[in-house]
Amino acid sequence: MTTSIQIQKMGEVLTPMIKDGHERIIFAHEPVSGLRSIIAIHDRTMGPALGGLRFFPYSDEQSALKDVMNLAKAMTYKSALADLSVGGGKSVIIGNPQIDKTEALLRSFGKVLNDLNGAYIVAEDAGTSQKDMDVIRRSTRFVTGASTSSGGAGDPSPVTAMGIFEGMKACVKHVFDRDDLSGIKVAIQGVGNVGFPLAKHLHQAGAKLVVSDKNQDHIKTAVKELGVQAVAPEDIFGIDCDIFSPCAMGGAINENTIQKLKCKIIAGAANNQLASEEIAEKLVTKGIVYAPDFVINAGGIIHVAQELEGYEWKKVEVRVQRIYNTILQILERSQSQKLPPSKIAVAMAKDRLAAKRLKD
Ligand code: NAD
Repeated sequence: MTTSIQIQKMGEVLTPMIKDGHERIIFAHEPVSGLRSIIAIHDRTMGPALGGLRFFPYSDEQSALKDVMNLAKAMTYKSALADLSVGGGKSVIIGNPQIDKTEALLRSFGKVLNDLNGAYIVAEDAGTSQKDMDVIRRSTRFVTGASTSSGGAGDPSPVTAMGIFEGMKACVKHVFDRDDLSGIKVAIQGVGNVGFPLAKHLHQAGAKLVVSDKNQDHIKTAVKELGVQAVAPEDIFGIDCDIFSPCAMGGAINENTIQKLKCKIIAGAANNQLASEEIAEKLVTKGIVYAPDFVINAGGIIHVAQELEGYEWKKVEVRVQRIYNTILQILERSQSQKLPPSKIAVAMAKDRLAAKRLKD
């Protein structure tokens, strides 16, 4: 999912846009605040493009462009499969969030969103927070995921965790024909904003947990509150378990780590978990069932998209619970068609988009 775009030079933008079906790429610069940003609007068949703002010190502009285009496309598929009335978009600000993030810069980004008049609506992503959404909200109304005190729906992470839990239950049903997770052994890589509430759900369901995190405070909390076993970050891949759950960074499953895996299922929160398309094929060969990341981690986008209709928890809950059926359907088709689940999921999303285009 992550490697399809090939951009040789900055001038060569239209060709990959056409190949991957992008509607608009907006480059924004504001000299006073120093804003350097790219916004990708991939597809608005389902509604306005909604997706996070990534603040990252990209080594060059090509990497930023590739990242934002790939991420925006994944958002189109994610929202289509989550049955949301929003399309796919994403934005990046090039810079180090620890050093370069200022109120002036975020507010000038907000002004760019005003120029787009709702074609793209922002949410938080890596390098940005709920606090940043509050700041952007001072300049524009095209923001979701701001704090409840400033009129937003608040942190999406617990809702993402709930969706992962639903998706895991579907995986367990498919692989073990079981309706509960008691005694199921889960290795979680990263017990941060999503991984920790996920661990709580699993603990309550009677699962056996092994966790790793680079942050010792996060490990301490998980051990103290849930009595989990903790291992070093490099050891989590080789844990003999039922489910491996990548809840840290993208690319966790690569040519090196796939050799170590001793799990039957991969189901976690991280975006772009598989380093390449080939890894998806290799997982099929190894008999490891993979819950496509952009399907199982849709809880967060479900949460923020609901803000656009007026937030109602009941509607969010119903949509998040549907992740169970969507994952089950994908895994059943993957098995019968002998194709990786990620390919099935993309095909299903494309079918939904085509059906909507026909209807319109
Ligand atoms: P987070 O930063 O709160 O948590 C990530 C945790 O992983 C941190 O505790 C960090 O110390 C740890 N970590 C980083 N590298 C590690 C490594 N190599 N080994 C072990 N631990 C490591 O982030 P989050 O909000 O919990 O998101 C987790 C992942 O899920 C990210 O990839 C994010 O893009 C994705 N995601 C998050 C949401 C959401 O609602 N927050 C929604 C969709 C997808």
